[in-house]
Amino acid sequence: MNNPDNRFDINSDIRFMKGVGPKVSSIMEKMGIETIGDLLRYVPFRYINRKMTVNEEFEDGRYVTLVGSVSDTGEVRTRNRKLIFTALVKYEGGYLYSKWFNNRYIKNNINKGDYVVLSGVIRYRKGVFEMHHPEYEKFESEDAELIHTGRIVPVYHMVAGLSQKYFRRIMKNAVDSYSQCLQETLPEEYSAKYELKSVCDAVRNLHFPESEEMLESAILRMKHEELFYAGLRAALLRVRRESEKTARYILEPEHPERIKQSLPFELTGDQKRALDEIRSDMMKKYPMNRMLMGDVGSGKTVVALLSMLHAVESGYQAAIMAPTEILARQHYDRITNILNDDAHLAVLLTSASKEKDKIKDQISKGEKKLIIGTHALIQENIVFSNLSYIVIDEQHRFGVEQRSILKEKGVNPDYLMMSATPIPRTLAMTAFSGMDISSLNEKPSGRKDVKTKWIARADEENMYRFVAKLIKRGEKCFILCPSIEENEKSELESVEKIYKEMTEGPFRDFRAERMHSRVPQALRASIMEKMNAGTIDIIVSTTVVEVGIDIKEATSIIIFDANRFGLSQLHQLRGRVGRGEKESFCFLLTRDELSQSAVDRLRAFVSVNDGFKLAEMDLKQRGPGEFWGSRQHGIPQFSFTDYFEDRELILEVFRESEKILRDDLNLLKKRNGCVKIEFKRRYSNEID
Ligand code: ADP
Ligand code: MG
Repeated sequence: MNNPDNRFDINSDIRFMKGVGPKVSSIMEKMGIETIGDLLRYVPFRYINRKMTVNEEFEDGRYVTLVGSVSDTGEVRTRNRKLIFTALVKYEGGYLYSKWFNNRYIKNNINKGDYVVLSGVIRYRKGVFEMHHPEYEKFESEDAELIHTGRIVPVYHMVAGLSQKYFRRIMKNAVDSYSQCLQETLPEEYSAKYELKSVCDAVRNLHFPESEEMLESAILRMKHEELFYAGLRAALLRVRRESEKTARYILEPEHPERIKQSLPFELTGDQKRALDEIRSDMMKKYPMNRMLMGDVGSGKTVVALLSMLHAVESGYQAAIMAPTEILARQHYDRITNILNDDAHLAVLLTSASKEKDKIKDQISKGEKKLIIGTHALIQENIVFSNLSYIVIDEQHRFGVEQRSILKEKGVNPDYLMMSATPIPRTLAMTAFSGMDISSLNEKPSGRKDVKTKWIARADEENMYRFVAKLIKRGEKCFILCPSIEENEKSELESVEKIYKEMTEGPFRDFRAERMHSRVPQALRASIMEKMNAGTIDIIVSTTVVEVGIDIKEATSIIIFDANRFGLSQLHQLRGRVGRGEKESFCFLLTRDELSQSAVDRLRAFVSVNDGFKLAEMDLKQRGPGEFWGSRQHGIPQFSFTDYFEDRELILEVFRESEKILRDDLNLLKKRNGCVKIEFKRRYSNEID
């Protein structure tokens, strides 16, 4: 099978490797390994340090690695029919017994006179060290290179049918014979700038590290590589979007200025910065594509409105699309309220709008400039006269398709997406590849933090009495039921159970409603309205309770089984109160036995109010996959990089790769030859 012509080709089929027959190769295929190159890029998920332990470090209970010669062997069967094979091994520090229990085959492998390396935990028994079931490797000559012991040993994810040892031997073979054939993947200047190993060196050390330091620098090299290409992809998406638009906005709009002056508050520093960023995007010669992130209530809508007015004053239409009827209405009310005498510029279009034809007409004739609406805006028969600016509120609640339909109703429109989920910057950069990001971290002045308390079982009655007092004063309360994943039936049960418990118990004098995923959208909206209008006092709900709605009188939220929610989610829930002037409270109840990490999480939540900080903590604890829950897509999983630990590196490398792309858009320069090849290898199926 060994074809000499293919011997040094990294793209050769894995079957050309010694020790890889049809059976092994079909197993490897399941591991995603088809070529020798794939094999080399199949990286260990952890390492065991089996470097030789020095004699002074031998002590009871310690994991050691030693080299020695077998001076005697013997097999006995105990009275209770246990089979014990013992090898007496002479090593530098004396003699050691290594023992195997009920292993019938070991006697064929280990013989008197063999040189062996053993790794395992040693026990000091009756004046001698012994080691049970050691990891062992024999070697023929004194200077033979060890694979499984005596070094930092790689451990791979395996599938059934292939042993760690067998695979490791094949890998050693591949690394020795083929790693020098790997094509360099990073431009020379780049590697030089960061003093990175060559790809060959890195891959060699990744599998069989010469030392801990070499392993560390190999991993750093691999981090750079994966980030470089993720960054390049983001940059490419950004560049592609940069189709020209004509300069269209006036330089010094005065309407937004006037409105800004009339606001009853001063913009926060973050709001001002976001406005500047948006404005400078608007003046560029290609359309804006920006994400504005900030907690509910951080003041995104005001920022959006002021920039929309810039477009309007320049003679264009601007539209804002919200995911639900009530959110759209809330925007409309707020915006018209702020606009005051100019409220006639704005119009609300939802499926519930009366006089739809008239509104459509006003939009198509350009009589209305600020169009606020729901999905109703993307219907086929809605035509804009000259739409140049689009804002999407709660962007994650729209599909890509829906967002792009609205885009197509304008001409290269500027595009602002808003998200009330604070997302750590590094994660946002990769998840929203190609988008620019502004974030509002600061709370508008005058807004108080929600007082958060974790209530002990014994204090629950007190807490209920306290909340009842608030409700008697006319304030409102949310009660959140345990999160039960993807199971409508038990979700319903949990709402019913808690509703009953509460309305027959501590809150029997109040008016309550239930809310869960089976309650239709329209009904949910009307329940929220009822609370807003003051005709109910309490909503017992699952997490479906509407984000983004201001119920100024809602001042308390009680969260059952708080330990079952992630930090970011708890924060979202807490954001449903504290929207008015009044002091607000969040009470956490726990009834399960808690793990240490749950305790840490809840303690952190009680003391931290900043959504971005909590998001970072959440990311650190749960990793990117869990961070948003399984439904969220588009987050690349890195093999080497940690979204939390490597934040700085991510930012740095993304900047560098964008610079390289901007300098050589089609990667045609000689020095970027390797970049083009590697980029294709990684992303050819999603980017042409
Ligand atoms: P978001 O859209 O981020 O949820 P909004 O823009 O709707 O937040 O603002 C929430 C509330 O805070 C609104 O009533 C708004 O008028 C008010 N607000 C916005 N910015 C400030 C500020 N800088 N100072 C005080 N109040 C503000
Ligand atoms: Mg909002």
